[in-house]
Amino acid sequence: MNLEKKIMISIRFLGADREVTGSCYLLDYDGFKVVVDCGLYQGDDELEKRNSQDFLFDPQDVNALLLTHAHLDHCGLIPKLVKHGFRGKIFLTQPTRDIFEITAYDTAKIQKEDAMRDPQSQIIYNAGDVVNSLAKCVTVKFNEKMKMTDNFFVTFKHAGHILGSAYLYMEIEDKKILFSGDLGHKGQSIIKPVDYSEDVDYLIIESTYGNRVHKPKAESEQELIDTVNDTVKNQGNIIIPSFAIERTQELIYNFKDFIKEGRMTPVNVYIDSPMAGKVTQVFSKYVNEYNNEAKDIVLKGDNPFYFEQLKFIQDAKRSKRIASRNIGKNKKGESIVVIAGSGMCTGGRILTYLMRNLPLSRSSVIFAGYQAEGTLGREIVDGEKEVYIYGKKVSVRANIVTLGGFSAHGDKVDLLDFISNMQKKPKKVFVCHGDEQISLEFADTVKSTFGIEAIVPYYNSQEVLE
Ligand SMILES: [Zn+2]
Repeated sequence: MNLEKKIMISIRFLGADREVTGSCYLLDYDGFKVVVDCGLYQGDDELEKRNSQDFLFDPQDVNALLLTHAHLDHCGLIPKLVKHGFRGKIFLTQPTRDIFEITAYDTAKIQKEDAMRDPQSQIIYNAGDVVNSLAKCVTVKFNEKMKMTDNFFVTFKHAGHILGSAYLYMEIEDKKILFSGDLGHKGQSIIKPVDYSEDVDYLIIESTYGNRVHKPKAESEQELIDTVNDTVKNQGNIIIPSFAIERTQELIYNFKDFIKEGRMTPVNVYIDSPMAGKVTQVFSKYVNEYNNEAKDIVLKGDNPFYFEQLKFIQDAKRSKRIASRNIGKNKKGESIVVIAGSGMCTGGRILTYLMRNLPLSRSSVIFAGYQAEGTLGREIVDGEKEVYIYGKKVSVRANIVTLGGFSAHGDKVDLLDFISNMQKKPKKVFVCHGDEQISLEFADTVKSTFGIEAIVPYYNSQEVLE
């Protein structure tokens, strides 16, 4: 009789299942519980309700938390987890820790402001919970095997998505489990590309763009240059809703390059986002995480995030002044480029710029990132002719441009390459973090390309890894 104890590993899917937001997984290895990512739900009202509901597990029972990267839909509920009794350590890379600090304080501040405006609005956590969360952070180096318990090791490897982003390569007894987090798109301007992994038994993979191929970067770059040059010629403004992390730094990096090369009309570029300013400072700290091209710029003594026409705006009053300048009352003036948040136009300073520029046919609005269903950004991209901002009807006459090549998310080709490069292919793939139809399509593609089992888990389902 075989008395050897059978090991038990299970994964519960607790977010970003058949949707793109609120990433969270609970891995259980014989009673040792690890949460992978603990993200905020964003965009959809119905889903956002989950932000204030109790967790589907007891935070006090969790031994450790592993964070792939500092996007809010992956880290935004960590302070809530701590508030609700999580006592373990939070493992993450150093740049991720720095960015998490910025985004978590910002989220706590927004909740406080929302609650002051609207008594119905709930405060999920406050700055004190952020302080307590930061005290639990333990930073880890890329590519160093870290021991969680006997027979359970984790390695953080480059995911090539945003600064500090990692995927998690777990070795539990004889099983290799890989949580992809979000994977990057080849050809991103600043950070190192994805590392490949050789040997995987179970793969949990994102599928944000699992059904499409991004436009080539060079094509998107040319489109950006043409849009800016043409709009300046027409004396319009260029409004770019942008995520404060990575996308904004990529745009700064590219604007500098294009203006320097003489391909783009020198135009004042305003980064109207205090958070983007802080994150850009974090980028300046981690030159070792740059790709070779970006590193070369620094080695030559230049700063990839500085050029003459670039201006960071911190102050809200100054933001309002700039938003109202050169526009309205038929006054045509000097064109400006504004990069501001939020990236999907769900709030933030971008709304004032949109309100003033969407009705102007001479202005352009450029979308360079993912626009989730249910967001204002998605409505504009989908071609709505009238939208509502702060409860007011706004007509859309501006030139609307979508640049796929700037995505920080891998497309279908990047995701399939990630699997192709595994010497030993997984025996089972769990497809997560995508709109339902896209995840299902990508699971089919994985099955037909590699002949391996691929499923799309439901929210709160559990899988036992045999
Ligand atoms: Zn992400």
